[in-house]
Amino acid sequence: IIQIQSLNKWYGDFHVLKNINLEVRKQEKIVICGPSGSGKSTLIRCINRLEEHQKGKIIVDDIELTNNLKNIEKIRTEVGMVFQHFNLFPHLSILDNLTIGPIWVRKTPKKEAEETAMFYLEKVKIAEQANKFPGQLSGGQQQRVAIARSLCMKPKVMLFDEPTSALDPEMVKEVLDVMVQLSEEGMTMIVVTHEMGFAKTVAQRVMLMDEGMILEENNPTDFFEHPEHERTKFFLSQIL
Ligand code: ATP
Ligand code: MG
Repeated sequence: IIQIQSLNKWYGDFHVLKNINLEVRKQEKIVICGPSGSGKSTLIRCINRLEEHQKGKIIVDDIELTNNLKNIEKIRTEVGMVFQHFNLFPHLSILDNLTIGPIWVRKTPKKEAEETAMFYLEKVKIAEQANKFPGQLSGGQQQRVAIARSLCMKPKVMLFDEPTSALDPEMVKEVLDVMVQLSEEGMTMIVVTHEMGFAKTVAQRVMLMDEGMILEENNPTDFFEHPEHERTKFFLSQIL
């Protein structure tokens, strides 16, 4: 469902993504890890055009990402994204956070948008908070709202950028549980995370990014137990 071919990106003179090739099949789960500054966020932000690339191709669901605004809009409705810092609208209730996208972007009738929102809030086990504001919820609850909000747009792919790294330890599990459930339901997922337990349970492929390249890629068992590169061994020794 995603094809990335010879992707290169620069920030000014800085070559941040170097010749990335990546194919993701429908329903596949991919975990990306790697040191800070290696380009993980930049890579997944390119996939829904929060960042522009300069060379190479990104094709999502048969649509190539170019400057064509119509295509960009289309891809953004198909690719959901969850960030480290939730990015909820603080002045809107939880329910309104979930319905604003479907109502304005997808032109869904309000009543239907609210029914869908409640369905996903129940799925992430937080329906009773629908009328509160983001600031009244814990970090773990806010992140589950952020996941539900993405799901309301009925995405075909979900991108996660370190969704648990801003959370207190006791809240990490409630968010990972929701992500595991989502993966079991067949969602296609690309997850930037250092939660290796999650990677082992859910991912078909784990990759290490370093200095803008995908340095190593393997199934989780071999990736964690028999890493090839010294760089990967060193990285794993630091996080495990
Ligand atoms: P982290 O684990 O800390 O989130 P990352 O792997 O996600 O790191 P990126 O955020 O993709 O890394 O950043 C990759 C490199 O690009 C870093 O060196 C960063 O300083 C640089 N960078 C990121 N965004 C910009 C920008 N808007 N302008 C210039 N340089 C940037
Ligand atoms: Mg990042």
